[in-house]
Amino acid sequence: MSERRLAILSEMGLAPVWRLRRRSETPGTEESDWTRLEREVPACTACALHKSRTQTVLGVGDRNADWLLVGEAPGAEEDRLGEPFVGQAGRLLDNMLAAIGLARGENVYIANVLKCRPPDNRDPRPDEAGNCEPFLRRQIALIQPRVILAVGRIAAQNLLKCDTPIGKLRGRVHRYGDIPLVVTYHPAYLLRSPGEKRKSWDDLRLAVATAGERAE
Ligand code: URA
Repeated sequence: MSERRLAILSEMGLAPVWRLRRRSETPGTEESDWTRLEREVPACTACALHKSRTQTVLGVGDRNADWLLVGEAPGAEEDRLGEPFVGQAGRLLDNMLAAIGLARGENVYIANVLKCRPPDNRDPRPDEAGNCEPFLRRQIALIQPRVILAVGRIAAQNLLKCDTPIGKLRGRVHRYGDIPLVVTYHPAYLLRSPGEKRKSWDDLRLAVATAGERAE
């Protein structure tokens, strides 16, 4: 849609108008940007995590997805296999996706705040998250999802640049730039606290409604 048409629609009170997604405006360019990420991420030595990793974990899924899920960091299994959310928490995440009619790799892309595993699965440090942030930002710019689901406190706080507790972040729609962002509990937490699954179901329904609004 041209800038002029956008301005006219806006003037007529027909805003918000969603722009065509970049992938359709500039076919072909994304692939080379992804290729660059695939080269740069495994070569990254910006923080000490590169010394202990088996491999980096860039992300997995549909690069034209409407849904982007962002978790915290690779764990032991992810570090071994090079794919996010493949351990026990990942299986629950897959079930959560299935509950809303989604499947890994089909209209969903899954990434993490950190591309390397922190030793002993400790929380990412602010400097580590800061060094890794440009990679995630580039992934988001390329995917241009309709909705971002921040999975867990670490993802939510890093994407939203805040230190608000997760309980206060969930239940409403935030923004990452112009992309709606919904916060939910990390599946590893849900495995420890199954009583909270009902709340995560509410979060998923909010995310579904949010993605649907953007599709209109
Ligand atoms: N937890 C995460 O946050 N990300 C993974 O990839 C695996 C577990």
